[in-house]
Amino acid sequence: MRIGIDIGGTKTHAVLVGDNGAVIAESRKPTGFGADEVITTAAAVVAELAEAEPEGVAAARSVGVGIPGAVDDLGRVRHAVNLGLEGLDLGARLGAALGRPVRVANDVNAAALGVYSLVEHGPSHSMAYLNLGTGLAAGLVLDGRLWRGSRGVAGEIGHIPVDPDGPVCPCGQRGCLELSASGSAVARLWPSDDPKPVRALYLSADDGDAQAIAVRDKLETNVAAAVRILVLTVDVDRVVIGGGVSSLGDRLLEGVRGVLTRWADASPFLRMQDLPSRVDLLPRGFPAAAVGAALIGVEPQHLPTPENGGR
Ligand SMILES: [Zn+2]
Repeated sequence: MRIGIDIGGTKTHAVLVGDNGAVIAESRKPTGFGADEVITTAAAVVAELAEAEPEGVAAARSVGVGIPGAVDDLGRVRHAVNLGLEGLDLGARLGAALGRPVRVANDVNAAALGVYSLVEHGPSHSMAYLNLGTGLAAGLVLDGRLWRGSRGVAGEIGHIPVDPDGPVCPCGQRGCLELSASGSAVARLWPSDDPKPVRALYLSADDGDAQAIAVRDKLETNVAAAVRILVLTVDVDRVVIGGGVSSLGDRLLEGVRGVLTRWADASPFLRMQDLPSRVDLLPRGFPAAAVGAALIGVEPQHLPTPENGGR
């Protein structure tokens, strides 16, 4: 048994995960703002899990947390602007509140581990999880281990500049990938009051709106570019797309595969990489970040897989 907590900008979601990767119990509460509130909320969702599954929670071998923001190796959150955190020793403070060790990772990295447990893999399988949320970022699992890089910035491909004439990014560079391939990009390029703005964009494009078609094509082209960057950099077996923008489902996947196919038609080199067959979508509704948080620090041979987990 392991406990995973996904601390999001609006809600904190805890899951109790069995050794086979199955979610046994879950609990959600609105996330508080600031260090004390974030820790209180995280402790409260675990207390609620314990009410539902007292024996399972008592027996849980580890607690993992995924949180949006920069996290160091010691479980300190350097900054998580949306949660009002700066230099919070989250691992130690939540560990003291829960009375057991707590491991912490960036939420996209945690989600990558969760997705890895869903995809069929042999011992040397590698995977990138491409998160299309407000921003664009990837988590890398290589040989069953999360690859955070030397400074924890591995996978931050949303800030690779792709357009020298593009707008200035909040990161200070110009024309970053996430300025045209993310939820915030769609909100800026195609403003809409629709609760599902990406779907609204696609419906307008289907109706023939030229501006919507341009924004949709730019989105798909740059998501395809992200897939290409991930494969050409680390040659992962699979790239799995998730995050809010991916709730569009097969429309997005088909569009991205279409771009990758056109590139392959024009390039024998890319054709050999067979990119369209290596990209997939995260199954809808799977709590990747919470499940993956439970798996932070678990040795590769002990990670659940579809083969041993019976998912
Ligand atoms: Zn940037």
